[in-house]
Amino acid sequence: MTWPSNQPPKPGLTAEDIARLNEKFAQSDAALGIEVSPEFRPFEQRNDIFTRAFWDEEVSSDDTLGFFKSYRMKFATRRGAGFSQKDFALRNASWAVSDILSSRGGEEGKREGFQAPIDYDTPVANDKVPVEDAGQEAEEIKRLAKLFGADLVGITEVDERWHYSSRVDTRDFTSAPNDLPDGITHVIVMGHAMDPDLVDTYPSALAGASTGLEYSHETQIVIQLSTYIRNLGYEAVGSMNDTALVIPYAVKAGLGEYGRNQMVITPEFGPRIRFSKIFTSLPLQVDEPKPLGIKQYCEICTRCAGACPPRALPFGAPDSVAHNRSTLSGVKKWSADCEKCFGYWAKLKTDCAICMRVCPFNRRYDGWVDRVFRALATGPYRKLALWWQERRGAPARLKAQDWWAKIRAGGG
Ligand code: SF4
Ligand code: SF4
Repeated sequence: MTWPSNQPPKPGLTAEDIARLNEKFAQSDAALGIEVSPEFRPFEQRNDIFTRAFWDEEVSSDDTLGFFKSYRMKFATRRGAGFSQKDFALRNASWAVSDILSSRGGEEGKREGFQAPIDYDTPVANDKVPVEDAGQEAEEIKRLAKLFGADLVGITEVDERWHYSSRVDTRDFTSAPNDLPDGITHVIVMGHAMDPDLVDTYPSALAGASTGLEYSHETQIVIQLSTYIRNLGYEAVGSMNDTALVIPYAVKAGLGEYGRNQMVITPEFGPRIRFSKIFTSLPLQVDEPKPLGIKQYCEICTRCAGACPPRALPFGAPDSVAHNRSTLSGVKKWSADCEKCFGYWAKLKTDCAICMRVCPFNRRYDGWVDRVFRALATGPYRKLALWWQERRGAPARLKAQDWWAKIRAGGG
C-alpha cells in the first residue's frame, strides 16, 4: 500500500475483533488496571475535547476561542502574576518547534503530530539492514532514543483497540482515514520529562511552557529516530497526539501506571512527563507492563480530585461512566469529565495541570526522602505514606514572580 492512502475511513473494529483483542491482551489489560468490555469501540478523534471545540456548539464558546487565540497573542493578557505578556510569550515560544510541524499539511486537512501522523520526509531505504536479534535491536533503539533526547523508552506490540477509528480532516472537522503503512507491528513509546520548577507554577501561562517545551523536544526526537529506522529499511511513522491514545501504550510498554489524575505515573518522574510514539515494522523485543503499586496508592488517595477546581476528576473507584462523548466508553477506569476540565483551561487561557503538580509522586527523586516515599507508597506501608502526605499537605504553588527572579539571578 502507498502511504498515506486516500481511502474512506475503514469500517473499524468489529465486535469479533474486540473480543479477539480483549482475549489476546487480557494479561496486559489486567496489568494496566483496566477492564475492556465487549461493547467497547475505538475512539473517534473528532470527539476529543480540543477538536470538539471547533465543531461542537456544546463546547465552543468565546472562552475556548480565546484559549486558542492566546497561542498567537491575539487577546489581552491578564494582569495577574503568571498570566502577563511575558509569561504567555515564554509559553508560546516553548511551543514554536512543535507549531512548525503542526502547521504542515493544512491544505490536505492535516495537522501533523496532532490530527495526523508525521509524514515521511525521507523514504524507507530499499535495502534492509537484517535484524538477527530482536532483543539486541530493542536495546540499541532505546539507547539511540536517549541519545536523541528521550528520558524513558519502552516497546510494545500494536494494539488496534487504542487507535482512533478515524482521524480529523482539519479543513471541515469531519472524519478522515486513520491508516498506517502495511506491516507495522511494534510501537516505540518515549517519555519526555517536564521541567519541575515550571510545573510547580501550575496553574499559570508560565507553567504552560513546561508542556510546550516537551512537545517541541518530542517533535525533534520522534522525527530523528523515525528517520533513522526508515534509513535501516523499515517503516517508521512518528506520532505525537495523533493516530492512537498514548496512555495505554505507555503503560503496556512498561513505563508507568495509570493514576486517578488520568496520567501515567512513572517511578522516575511521577506524572511529570509527556509521551510520544513511533509505529514501526522493525523487529523488536517487547517490554511487559510493570505493576508498580501506584494504582493501589491512588485507590486510597484523592488529592488530585480534591484539588481540581472544576471537580472534573473522580473520587470513587474506577467505573465505566461516560460523562459525555469525549469519554472513552466501554472501559472501566478512572475518567475525567473533559468538558469541565477544558472549560477551566479555556477560562485560564492556558493548560491547567494542578492535578499533576499536587500529586505526591511529582518529585525530583534526587534525595532519600523522595525515594523513601516511593518505596512506602508502592508497598504494603502505603497507608503510612498517605498519612505522612496528609500531614505534610500538598506543596505550595511556586509563585511566577519567584520563578522569574530565579532566572534573573541566573539560577533557572
Ligand atoms: S494525587 Fe493521589 S490519587 Fe491523584 S494521581 Fe496522585 S497519587 Fe493518585
Ligand atoms: S487539568 Fe486542572 S481542571 Fe483538568 S482535571 Fe486536572 S486539575 Fe482538573
